[in-house]
Parts: sequence; structure tokens; C-alpha cells
Amino acid sequence: MKKYSRQRELILNSLRNRTDHPTAEILYKDLKNDMPGIGIATVYRNLAELCESGSILKIKSNTGADRYDGKLQPHIHFECNECHEIYDIEIEEMSTRRIENEIRRLTEDIGAEYANSSIYITGLCKKCKVLVNINY
Ligand SMILES: [Zn+2]
Ligand SMILES: [Zn+2]
Repeated sequence: MKKYSRQRELILNSLRNRTDHPTAEILYKDLKNDMPGIGIATVYRNLAELCESGSILKIKSNTGADRYDGKLQPHIHFECNECHEIYDIEIEEMSTRRIENEIRRLTEDIGAEYANSSIYITGLCKKCKVLVNINY
């Protein structure tokens, strides 16, 4: 049992130290260097547990594979349709609250009860925008 908590801690720390929103598989490949004995199933299980306890966020990406985020402060995600990189967009707490209140109001307008929301933007990132323009 002790061993599992230690692994969970390592997974959590490695996720907190990066900003690229890796998939479980990418995280596993990087973790293997520090923890040669770790298996992919362990990574999946620990990620699920960390999500459940609210220590990390799971992001449903358009590529199909779930992505993970160790950053819990409110922020917006931008996924590039071309390279599928996920970027963080920082947002002030006041704006977050204003947007959330608006979404809550719209939810209540249809008679539903609000629980949670997140904003997910897709488009072309800075790097890919330049490439697309060159190709034209
Ligand atoms: Zn891109
Ligand atoms: Zn993020």
C-alpha cells in the first residue's frame, strides 16, 4: 500500500512540473526513466485516483486520448486543431467568476441546476497559423 502512495506522489509531482497536458501514455514514457519498474496500468490507475480526489484535472481532448493537467487554478484551455497541443490561457479570478455566474444563469434559465463548467477553445495555435499561411 505504501509503495502505491509513493508512486502516486511521483506521478502527481511530475504532472505538476509540466504544462503540456500529457496523455497517460506520454506521462508513462517519461516516468519510466525515473521509475523503471512502473507499468502503464499503474499510471492509469493512479491518474484515475488523482482525478477522483480532485488533485488533477482530466481533459477530454479532440484527439481521443484523455489529457491530464496538474494545474488546479482556474484557467482556460486552447487546443490546436493542427498539432493538438493544449495551451493554458490565464484568466483573472474576477473574470472567471463573472463568466461562471453568466453560465450559471443560463443553466438556471433552462430549469437545470448548475454544478461545474470549463471553457475549451479550439483553433490554430500561433506556430501552426504561421505554417498554414506559408503553405497558401
Ligand atoms: Zn498548433
Ligand atoms: Zn491547463
